Amino acid sequence: MGEPALPKCVPLGLSPSFGFGDRIGLATPGHVEALRRSGSGIEPIFPQQSIREMVRTGRNPAGVMKDALLGSILAGWTGKIGADADHLKTPEDVDVTSAAGFTFFTIDPSGSVAAHADDYDEATLRDRFAQVVAEVEWIRPYQGRSIPLPTGTTIELDEPACLRAAVKYGRAVNHAVALADHIRRVSEAAGREYEIELSVDETEQPTTLAEHYIIVDQCIARGMKLVSLAPRYIGDFEKGVDYKGDVVALERSLEDHAAIAGLLGPYKLSLHSGSDKLSMYPSLSRATRGRFHVKTAGTSYLEALRVVARHDEALFRRVVDFARSRYDGDKATYHVSATLASAPPPSEVADVVELERQYLELWSEVPAGRGFTRPGRQILHCTFGSTLTDPTLGPAIREVLVRNASTYDEILADHFARHLDALRSGL
Ligand SMILES: [Zn+2]
Repeated sequence: MGEPALPKCVPLGLSPSFGFGDRIGLATPGHVEALRRSGSGIEPIFPQQSIREMVRTGRNPAGVMKDALLGSILAGWTGKIGADADHLKTPEDVDVTSAAGFTFFTIDPSGSVAAHADDYDEATLRDRFAQVVAEVEWIRPYQGRSIPLPTGTTIELDEPACLRAAVKYGRAVNHAVALADHIRRVSEAAGREYEIELSVDETEQPTTLAEHYIIVDQCIARGMKLVSLAPRYIGDFEKGVDYKGDVVALERSLEDHAAIAGLLGPYKLSLHSGSDKLSMYPSLSRATRGRFHVKTAGTSYLEALRVVARHDEALFRRVVDFARSRYDGDKATYHVSATLASAPPPSEVADVVELERQYLELWSEVPAGRGFTRPGRQILHCTFGSTLTDPTLGPAIREVLVRNASTYDEILADHFARHLDALRSGL
């Protein structure tokens, strides 16, 4: 008697799709139940982990793959499964994830993006362009073109827009194309179908329509098998909380981005940090006419902590204390606005139901006029790596989840069915 044969992951093409990242490896049965409940026709990606997450949780691509696929078998899932090797930056990242059977490769060239190019004045812009011009000669033919979109918007590729795109994303495009070539070679050698997402979501400044057009046109012209693009959209996409911004303006902008995707592809528009952004989901599915991909990751971890709160109060209190002690150090790479002062230490909250509410539900105002957020969720969200790799807390959390698997499945099913229903409502 060995282990059951694991299903093979496949590309999902242009079908609407949803990525259920799982940092612990026990969430897939709950994800499957959510898909059953919502009956949404949205295709799942169960194995999904970025290299950064694997480093922080001490996991590896083969382990992530195996946990997710075993979970899908356990839950009786017989549909297609995609597998997302998320935020890949180097050829080595591709090699290790391809070897584990991943089929959806997310290229992240953000290390080569000039993050502050939108703030350059014209003199600085020309100066920076002169520094990269030898690498971005391909920008020239775009200059002076005017691209009318079916939405009525026209993209003017005038000289300033082209210079800025070349300075901001020129090297990133070259880097992404080289990585895509590597993905093609590795996948062909393995005899495996594959698809590529290009993600520039982790930049400070929104991706303009001109930038979207130029980046993708270049990538496709140079052979990238692009199935989805994750631009940096307008508004704020903080971890663990709903969308912060003007949803009407966002939908108009999504319609324009989707029109470009229809013109150059078609390919899907992808939303990262997608958990809890329910207010903008109908806009996303409506504007893209169902050509979307959504990624969530941290939210399954937060819901795991809800199981801990309900079944092991003492452990939940320790996790919250520990998270508070690590938050200021761990939050560096995340887009969050919570401060420690905006959520009470567990010692000041006698009732565990109230503590769960404080750390997993409550919205409160952020100082200095920075709007509202859910400080507890953000404090727990950013510290997942420290918590899960802690020699006592990590195993203790897993044990609670294993002992209370039906609670965890139910909480996840409810949580994600609401996500899938919100997306479906715009279809
Ligand atoms: Zn991302």
